[in-house]
Amino acid sequence: MFYKHIKLRGKTFRFLGTSAATSANMRAVTAKGNATTEARLRLMLVRAGIRGWKLHTSSLIGKPDFYFPQQRLVLFVDGCFWHSCPRCGHLPRRNRAYWSEKLRRNKERDLLYTRMLRSQGYKVLRLWECQLKKSPQKQLHRIASLLNRLHK
Ligand SMILES: [Zn+2]
Repeated sequence: MFYKHIKLRGKTFRFLGTSAATSANMRAVTAKGNATTEARLRLMLVRAGIRGWKLHTSSLIGKPDFYFPQQRLVLFVDGCFWHSCPRCGHLPRRNRAYWSEKLRRNKERDLLYTRMLRSQGYKVLRLWECQLKKSPQKQLHRIASLLNRLHK
């Protein structure tokens, strides 16, 4: 038996006997959040010549990953673990109650932010980390056509 220690917002969580793959996955999400996915999308946008976006606009609810002011489009890249992706989200085996509550609250907050932003007249698009990995071109196309449609 072995323990894995995972540090999260200053607290250390101990996981018992998780598989190497799971631990690697946990470490990745813990260390970087969705920074890698976001960086990938940033690069894709630049390559596609899509401009005029801002990162982490703190004046907007939820500090969206990308904001296109001209089109009033807000774009979130949701990490599959933290935002409970229906395809690949999962509950860690240890501390189930803790994680279940934490992930539930995350989901609730996502919904609330989306609703609040929409009520303020923003178009909100949420992309899953796994969608961006599996079909980057398709997601880029979605973004591009939405921007075209919203352009005034
Ligand atoms: Zn996913």
